[in-house]
Amino acid sequence: MNKSDLEQDLEFLVALRRDLHAHPELGFEEKRTSAIVARHLEEAGLKVHRGLGGTGVVGTLTVGNGPHSIGLRADMDALAMPETAERPYKSTVPGKMHACGHDGHTTLLLGAARLLAKRRSFNGTVHFIFQPAEEGRGGAKRMVEDGLFELFPCDAVYGLHNMPGLAIDEMAVVEGPQLASSDSWKVRLTGVGTHGAKPHLGRDPITAAGQFISSLQSIVGRVVDPLQPAVVSACSVQAGDPKALNVIPDFIDIAGTARAYTPEVRDQLEEEIGRLAHGVANMFGIKASYEFIRRIPPVVNDADTTTRALRAAQTVCGEKVRTSFPPSTAGDDFAYFAGEVPGCYVWLGNGPAVDGALHHNTGYDFNDNAIPTGVNFWTTLVEQELAA
Ligand SMILES: [Zn+2]
Ligand SMILES: [Zn+2]
Repeated sequence: MNKSDLEQDLEFLVALRRDLHAHPELGFEEKRTSAIVARHLEEAGLKVHRGLGGTGVVGTLTVGNGPHSIGLRADMDALAMPETAERPYKSTVPGKMHACGHDGHTTLLLGAARLLAKRRSFNGTVHFIFQPAEEGRGGAKRMVEDGLFELFPCDAVYGLHNMPGLAIDEMAVVEGPQLASSDSWKVRLTGVGTHGAKPHLGRDPITAAGQFISSLQSIVGRVVDPLQPAVVSACSVQAGDPKALNVIPDFIDIAGTARAYTPEVRDQLEEEIGRLAHGVANMFGIKASYEFIRRIPPVVNDADTTTRALRAAQTVCGEKVRTSFPPSTAGDDFAYFAGEVPGCYVWLGNGPAVDGALHHNTGYDFNDNAIPTGVNFWTTLVEQELAA
């Protein structure tokens, strides 16, 4: 029996994925990973641009003289956390692990580049975008600032993320919001420190902070449209000293995250958190300072681009493509790419969660059985969008 191109490459791809898994690198430190990516792209005959956005790599493959070009994105970074599960290709670097499956994403896109370079079964240009630092370190933004789309113009850009809980031959391709905006906020309430036994001689910022924190959830409950998802969480509170339990401190710092799926709700969260901080400070006769740090916009799938991705997914997975799937309150800086050109972000099934381990769990592992579906999706998308 004749083996397909992909079947022939599968052993190589599984070994590559496991090698990447064993050697995780954090955002902007992906020196080994990006060198491996660049070498394999060059060996496949692609034109390779290294060092875009720090450790980013772009491989370009042009076949024929078709005027269209598309960008496909894979992220390469790992997370600063230990791997606890035992496996032959367990992380060799203490405190770092591929717990989000980006080792799989890198492998899928390399596999697609190798196959398409061999088949040359399309007419146009594909830019294979290997981005650094997706996990909150701003890799996509850096690539855009470094001129990604001026150097490599794309009519559309596509991103893919693995999703445990969907079968390995299943995908979800959904129009509209996929991932939330991911922003940070910081509040400092400054009063007048005093003796813990003599609160009337100072202005207590701690009691004010209690009021602020408990009022915070009224933004989502009472201000934002109930049909619009939003999250506001206080995740850090710092004040005083547990060794000085008779001292009311001068100030307290409260900080957290805010998530939304539309620019309007995002603006609303920014404004309302600040309004509450200043309002509570006023009420207690103290001062507030407020900072809202915009990190990642929401990922919202463009309608036309989604139709194209859906066609490719249905060609590969048949009826096992979900066209409705709940958006995630996590973020992905793919949003910066999709903010420049029409974009679509799809989910690739990764099988059942093994031992309950989901993304960012110390036991998580990309499922190699999903490699054929993922590579097929990328190659089919290119062959359909840039039809020969
Ligand atoms: Zn992640
Ligand atoms: Zn991820």
